[in-house]
Amino acid sequence: MPSTSTTNRRSFLARGAALAAGPAIATVVGGALAEPAAADTLPDYAPVPPSALGPAVNEQGYYVGRVERNLYWVTDGTYQAAFLTTRNGVVLFDAPPTIGQNIQRAIDQIAADNGVSNKVTHIVYSHHHADHLGASSLFGKNVTRIGHEETRRLLLRDDDPTRPVPDVTFKTQRTLHVGGERIDVAWHGTNHSPDNIYIHLPDHDTLMLVDINLPGWVPFASFNLSEDVPGTIAAPAKAMAYPWKHFIGGHMGRLGTRDDMVVYQQYVTDLIDNIKTALVTVDPTPFFTRYGNNSWAAVKEYQAAQVDYAAAPVIEKYTGILAADDVYTASTAFIILESIRLDLGFGSQIHP
Ligand SMILES: [Zn+2]
Repeated sequence: MPSTSTTNRRSFLARGAALAAGPAIATVVGGALAEPAAADTLPDYAPVPPSALGPAVNEQGYYVGRVERNLYWVTDGTYQAAFLTTRNGVVLFDAPPTIGQNIQRAIDQIAADNGVSNKVTHIVYSHHHADHLGASSLFGKNVTRIGHEETRRLLLRDDDPTRPVPDVTFKTQRTLHVGGERIDVAWHGTNHSPDNIYIHLPDHDTLMLVDINLPGWVPFASFNLSEDVPGTIAAPAKAMAYPWKHFIGGHMGRLGTRDDMVVYQQYVTDLIDNIKTALVTVDPTPFFTRYGNNSWAAVKEYQAAQVDYAAAPVIEKYTGILAADDVYTASTAFIILESIRLDLGFGSQIHP
């Protein structure tokens, strides 16, 4: 019989993960989605393509696997962390609270199998967001935390005890040497957040860049809640400039490849192209005629029509290729449309 904490854990995972991942989680938690909401009245979405899904999680709700040599990744199906076992202890990359105590369980399992230390000595922070760092405090005070200087500033501001501030910070780049292993961290400008960094493990052919490309899936709502849309659009090319074979995107159930990044870049490019066409093609006249002096109603419906014009062909093109493209493409298209208008000035007209 499962303990209360196991039951709570599963219930939390089911609810929390369902918020972000929908159909994938029914598989992950083995049908724990017994929600009282009238499920049969909810909208239908296209099935998740098998290529978007990763390995099944175990009884405790996690999967741990090798990325390359002594670099491992752990997932709950929705979030991802990674860790490097070294001769002096373990370097952990991110600590999502949804994986929580399963991070140490995964490390214990791998350390026992390989006869190496299971003690986390360092945690590298990808960026300051709580959904990727909220289990950091589980590893105590005697851990060296590494992050961008802006991550430190934002965490001091947020004052959240679950996310201790980094002890070691950097501005543009830094190479870390831990137990004979090399980790290169770099900041190449704002994107998803002001402090999101590129974590490169050159001796493991791996790049970790969180909340940009979620391999196999379209971005979460509003372009993964991007805080800087032009920076987010530029990020994949910066990622591709590094040599790597394995990609850790911070989300969903599998690792990525360079091919995944190419598909994602094309998806974003297709959206941008269609949005630029929509901005000069969709006729505003009927919206302003219909709503008269209610400018917001006219703008809202006009922009909804532009978004639909841009998103519909992209949704059709990527169905079966990127999971949930019918769920979040419109939301992402709206954010990119606003950036093209406001950041690039595209479609602006000066009154004659
Ligand atoms: Zn984030």
